[in-house]
Amino acid sequence: MTLACRIHAAHDLRVEPLEAPPPGPHEVELRLGAMGICGSDLHYFQHGRVGAFVLREPLIPGHEASGIVERVGSAVTRVKPGDKVAINPSHACGQCDYCLGGRFNLCRRMFFLGSASVFPHAQGLLRERFVLGEAQLTTIHEDVSLGEIACAEPLSIGLHAVSRAGVLTGKTVLITGGGTIGCMSVIAARLAGAAQVIACDIAERPLAIATQVGADRVVRTDQVDAASLADSADIAIEAAGSPAALATCLAATRRGGRIVQVGTLPADGIAFPANSIMARELDYVGAFRAAHAFDWAVGYLRTRRVDVRPLLSASLPIERSREAFELAADRSRSTKVQVTAA
Ligand SMILES: [Zn+2]
Ligand SMILES: [Zn+2]
Repeated sequence: MTLACRIHAAHDLRVEPLEAPPPGPHEVELRLGAMGICGSDLHYFQHGRVGAFVLREPLIPGHEASGIVERVGSAVTRVKPGDKVAINPSHACGQCDYCLGGRFNLCRRMFFLGSASVFPHAQGLLRERFVLGEAQLTTIHEDVSLGEIACAEPLSIGLHAVSRAGVLTGKTVLITGGGTIGCMSVIAARLAGAAQVIACDIAERPLAIATQVGADRVVRTDQVDAASLADSADIAIEAAGSPAALATCLAATRRGGRIVQVGTLPADGIAFPANSIMARELDYVGAFRAAHAFDWAVGYLRTRRVDVRPLLSASLPIERSREAFELAADRSRSTKVQVTAA
């Protein structure tokens, strides 16, 4: 038996015992290292849904985790007991047209841990022990913490969003949202050669963190007139998942520029700004999860070429998962809250 955190419905989160099956030949039993609470986990907790993905049975949330190998199946060769590993939560089929075209994140038969996008739901990683296929794991030999390694998935989202933005060398990039994905996008934009990175938010703390991870300039969008931002960016990355933030991106992006939507907007929809996109020749593109960028993220973290430590605001044991979720929901106190094994 092991301990797992399950969301039964909005605001109904329980830490309860769960059966822990032994690993099969190509599988590995892991002990949780750290698991970051993501905006999507919070959406399941607060609203019972994320965009179009609605809870239809209890869900173990969590897709941003690191672990320590406890036991390996008879045919496992990539990892051994005691290894510290990064965990890729994305299981693409490898065979559909999208996978064959290299766009694994768009796989037709995607199984992504901790998600209600499929039914039965893909149970996630917020449990003390779990079993995964060895192909999902990368051993980290370097002296970086389990909390840092658990940031590989959110960093991959920022890297993928920036890769959807096109060439950034010499460009000014405006990013809305100073939470984890906004900050990961700041980091990724700098890695990609942006000349200037502007971070926007409606609260002070996220902007302070964005500055720590490399934003050149910050803007409190609740305190300025959107028109004052006109023509200030070549590229905008909308990481807040808010209609107001998208409006900021539309106002700020220069003619012929590009807006990348990486935040999930509310399910009830927004008026689509077709005429602004048309008349100003804007590119409006989506960025969903990550494909190759997971391995890039692991590479940047293991050497601390990317240092995510400013984002790690708290770490609580699994028994205190409810408290961890409440803390994660409070942006005045938290960026990334992580849960650990007891
Ligand atoms: Zn996430
Ligand atoms: Zn596929």
